[in-house]
Amino acid sequence: MSIKSYRFDGGKNLRLQEEPTDAGEHKKEKAELVSRTAENLRKAAMLAEKLYAAGCEGLVVAIQARDAAGKDSLVKHVFSALNPQLLEVHSFKSPNEHELSHDYLWRIVQALPPRGKVGVLNRSHYEDVLVVKVHHLEKTYRLAPRCLGEDFFEKRYRQLRHFEDYLYENGYRVVKLFLNVSREEQKKRFLDRIEREDKHWKLSTADMKERSLWAEYDAAYEDCINATATQRAPWYVLPADNKWYTRYLVSEILLETLADMNPEFPPLSASELALVPSVKAELESGT
Ligand code: AMP
Ligand code: MG
Repeated sequence: MSIKSYRFDGGKNLRLQEEPTDAGEHKKEKAELVSRTAENLRKAAMLAEKLYAAGCEGLVVAIQARDAAGKDSLVKHVFSALNPQLLEVHSFKSPNEHELSHDYLWRIVQALPPRGKVGVLNRSHYEDVLVVKVHHLEKTYRLAPRCLGEDFFEKRYRQLRHFEDYLYENGYRVVKLFLNVSREEQKKRFLDRIEREDKHWKLSTADMKERSLWAEYDAAYEDCINATATQRAPWYVLPADNKWYTRYLVSEILLETLADMNPEFPPLSASELALVPSVKAELESGT
């Protein structure tokens, strides 16, 4: 199954209302897709080993979504298939005073993995054009008046495009995932968090306030995805109501992206290769 229909890379306009939030007709293929997920992740893990060995390209996966859309469980159930040694996961919360005294990409840059690794951003630089836009937080920041103004977010979109282009040209692939959960499913998951004591730690009354701004977030996501979806750094808008299906789609994206990066185990250098026969003979003749 192709993940093309979920991909946004500048070729088509996103209208969030028209995007599916569940697996739809693919529900009947569940058993097959669940086993494909495991197979994809096995293959992706092997490619990631090559990426690590080669060390010349890195992969950055930014995960964005509303509360309870499944960001944490995606990290737990999909990205955990990779060797932890080559994986770096960072979660971004509301910026503290120190972070706010820097430009907004400062903390993101510090969280980027070295080339050779896979970096997962659980929330990301996109919060700065989503929650910030919805709540007009930029007006509460200590910014020079010349930095504010009508085109504040247009400028940020441009900065994000340039930032990701810069990363691409410096050896990184950037993939952005939006987990598109429905209002009904979010309600179910919030109620589950209330019912189950083992999920209380995930419960936040502030999340209810965000839920009441559903339409505002829809508009912010739509604007930001349309403005920052590029060939080099595509967005994937993924149905998130059926976790098994989201996991399957992410396994496809991970495998496809790593396959496209085409990492290879690096060969021995000529000088090392020249020493191999003598080293081998020494090992074989010794104890
Ligand atoms: P959670 O992901 O549930 O732990 O919540 C993290 C909270 O931090 C969410 O409400 C985010 O919207 C918020 N957050 C993350 N990054 C930013 C940011 N750059 N500016 C403002 N709030 C942020
Ligand atoms: Mg939360």
